[in-house]
Amino acid sequence: MTKFDTVAIVDWSAGNDTGSRPRKDAIWMGIARDGQTEEPVYLRNRPVAEHAIADLIDAELAAGRRLFLGFDFPFGYPRGFGEALTGSEDPFALWAWLEARLEDSPKANNRFDLAGQINRQFPGIGPFWFNGLGRDIDGLPRKDTRDGHGMPELRRVEAQSKGTFSCWQLGGAGAVGGQVLTGLPVLERLRRRFSGQVAVWPFEPLDRPVAFVEIWPGLINAAVKDAEAQGGIRDAHQVRLLSRAVSRLPQARLRAMLDVDAPKEGWIMGQGFETELTQAARLAPPPLRDDCFALPAGVDWTPVDDALAMLQDRLHAVVEQEDVAVKNAANRILASDVIAVRSNPHLPNTAVDGYGFAYASLGQGDQILPLVKGRAAAGLAFEGAVPAGHAIRILTGAALPDGVDTVILQEDVTVGGGQIAFRPGVKTGANTRKAGEDVHAGDVALKAGRKLTPADLALASAVGISRLPVFRRLRVAVLSTGDELVDAGEAAAPGQIYDANRPMLSALVDQFGFDCVDLGRVPDDRDALRAILDGAAAEADTILTSGGASSGDEDHVSALLQDAGAMAEWRVALKPGRPLALGLWDGTPVFGLPGNPVAAFVCTLIFARPAMALLAGQGWTKPQGFSVPAGFSKSKKPGRREYLRARMRDGRADVFKSEGSGRISGLSWAEGLVELPDDALEVAEGDPVRFIPFGSFL
Ligand code: AMP
Ligand code: MG
Repeated sequence: MTKFDTVAIVDWSAGNDTGSRPRKDAIWMGIARDGQTEEPVYLRNRPVAEHAIADLIDAELAAGRRLFLGFDFPFGYPRGFGEALTGSEDPFALWAWLEARLEDSPKANNRFDLAGQINRQFPGIGPFWFNGLGRDIDGLPRKDTRDGHGMPELRRVEAQSKGTFSCWQLGGAGAVGGQVLTGLPVLERLRRRFSGQVAVWPFEPLDRPVAFVEIWPGLINAAVKDAEAQGGIRDAHQVRLLSRAVSRLPQARLRAMLDVDAPKEGWIMGQGFETELTQAARLAPPPLRDDCFALPAGVDWTPVDDALAMLQDRLHAVVEQEDVAVKNAANRILASDVIAVRSNPHLPNTAVDGYGFAYASLGQGDQILPLVKGRAAAGLAFEGAVPAGHAIRILTGAALPDGVDTVILQEDVTVGGGQIAFRPGVKTGANTRKAGEDVHAGDVALKAGRKLTPADLALASAVGISRLPVFRRLRVAVLSTGDELVDAGEAAAPGQIYDANRPMLSALVDQFGFDCVDLGRVPDDRDALRAILDGAAAEADTILTSGGASSGDEDHVSALLQDAGAMAEWRVALKPGRPLALGLWDGTPVFGLPGNPVAAFVCTLIFARPAMALLAGQGWTKPQGFSVPAGFSKSKKPGRREYLRARMRDGRADVFKSEGSGRISGLSWAEGLVELPDDALEVAEGDPVRFIPFGSFL
């Protein structure tokens, strides 16, 4: 069963037209999509209601949406009744039988006469009772004096649930009998009118775009009572809250409620799941979804650190290893530790141009040492040893010849007649480098998980490494969503805007050192988006989308991720940021970034960046921030973290003149972010604040 996009709940009534002003005990319809409810619709009489429901079905079918349509009256009578009346066990035979006989209009209907007529076909008195009219009706007792009619009093589901009424009772507080008699004919007509598009639960599998389902607001009575205490019409609360509850249920839970072993009498959906339904009806966080991004229960706004901890916990490296030449390894992520093959320096050598000798052979006072023939230069080893009391010409980088442990700078020496002269005071070992003083052979020169810098390439080469084990570059797909978008350079009609996010996000992905897969733009169309995500999930390791991430009508990214069953909309306590939709599509993590470019940028740096580092084998990364004096003042509210577009000038952090999140110029102006903590804060000029340069995120 695929997900229902729209949930409509109808509270039926057997009474006459209730006038133009909304009132109780009338027909009401509540509609919810993705847990968001619309204002309940007041329907003054049954013809009006039948029209409104047909219009709704038409609209939902035209929009390609699946509709859950709930009605609060029994879809069948206790066992044996339909067969006794129609000769058939088929529940729809009874629907058609009633439809053919019930006469209905806004001002009057023949339900009591029809009940009397039915009663006369049964032995004894009953099963129907209660006559709401002034005149007597043959066969229909006014009081419950029924006897010997042979029908069970309740359906199986009613016998199991508290507070349900018997459908034989046609009037009096709470009675439902009149609603069944006037309701089933309407359902039968709608079923015929939308033949092939409607499935009726629990008699048919729900494999059509529209489902008729028997529901009962009594199951969520506690939530309705609480709402009623705030005023308003009870019936309106019932349909609003029940539509919200059903629309909010996770797929698996709704499936569980629909999965009943139902007799031909019908069933009340949600019977036995009252607590869960009531909880979903209340304005509380939705029930937990069973997925890897789910948040703890009871959390409404997730602190940034908690959201990050969760990502860190749930994601892991997804990339394979490969070997690349050192010269091609910049910005790649090292897959395993690199061990030095050779020490650096591999021999003791000289750090300067000068003259080398054995320190122990020097005497007191000014020194005069004879020079040996030849010299030691980098890469040209001096063959032989330097005798004690002698010196040798030596050039920077040359290995120290045998007999040399100390070098004096050529500037401190006078040379002449095959000798050198210099003052006392030179220290033992001066101007030399010991073997392995930088890196010893066998030591770890570079640790796994590093994003390789130019300096790393120098180090690897110096210790004798020519190829490096790195992770395959993470493939990151980038997609913009929105009907309003065109690419800069294209013709833009009024109201259209240029896609600013895709160039920005693609460039960020490049800067992070990943491979960007440009998915282009997709309109606000669920099927198109689904097709693109399918392709991207096969091709890329992770997907960044922008736009459509909240829960509005056109927010298909979040809707689809929710459909996929592995999604929680994260209400992260972050400015500028929400909404951020996170989920898995075919096992591929999707970051549904906000459409707003400033928010998309900040969310990418704060959330997607460390998550992608983890996927890419880099491990969890934290941007480096610095405590610097503020060049601004600000009063910050508690409850969410804020990131201000900022840059350093004259040793202070300046922030952009406007915090308006639509200002892309401020993003361009900025060179980093000032991070203000979750709690309330008064910042005065000169107070320390945390500045994170953009480079810290790379
Ligand atoms: P949405 O999250 O789709 O509701 O978009 C929020 C805001 O961001 C709307 O004003 C969009 O027009 C805008 N927006 C969405 N995507 C982009 C984009 N790729 N470039 C520029 N603005 C965008
Ligand atoms: Mg949009």
